[in-house]
Amino acid sequence: MLPGRTVAPSRTLRFIAWWFAGLSDARTWFPGFRLLLVGVLLGIAVGWSFGRILHVVVLEEHSLPKPVISPAPGRAWVHVLTTGYCPCALCCGLFANGHTAINRDVATFPFGIAAAPALIPYRMTLEVPGYGTALVDDTGGAMRQDAVRHVVHLDLRFVTHAEALRWGRRWMWISLPADGPAAQVETLHEAGR
Ligand SMILES: [Zn+2]
Repeated sequence: MLPGRTVAPSRTLRFIAWWFAGLSDARTWFPGFRLLLVGVLLGIAVGWSFGRILHVVVLEEHSLPKPVISPAPGRAWVHVLTTGYCPCALCCGLFANGHTAINRDVATFPFGIAAAPALIPYRMTLEVPGYGTALVDDTGGAMRQDAVRHVVHLDLRFVTHAEALRWGRRWMWISLPADGPAAQVETLHEAGR
């Protein structure tokens, strides 16, 4: 540095110095109070926006409105949880033998749906928006446990694990036989709403 010249502190540094000025001054409480107030306001703003995001992800996605058009005669709209799986060891366990619960070879039938047989019997054809029309040919522990909690859960079979992950968890309305156990679960929910 040349003698007689000082480097002027940057705008940011000057702001920080101004912002924290007086914090160590025992005679006034205002700088500390100001810092606390801004901290609380920032916290409220961040908390509020996260709340909005959570609301959209958890509640609004979950409470998609029921389709306005009536389903085909003898069918009812049922709110179902859909997830994806593939024949890999992560999804189906280390001893998965490449066959579904009704002994369909996954190499021959790469696509199919796993459900709780207590809610949706095997060999029923379902139309799942975004997946397609497929046969219920498999089951899983998660589906049977969700059935106990009155949640109709469908696990959709994909070829690769990445595709199954990409599907994620999606709540949707699908049409099921109006006299079946899954539709009764829906009636139960409607009574509780
Ligand atoms: Zn997998």
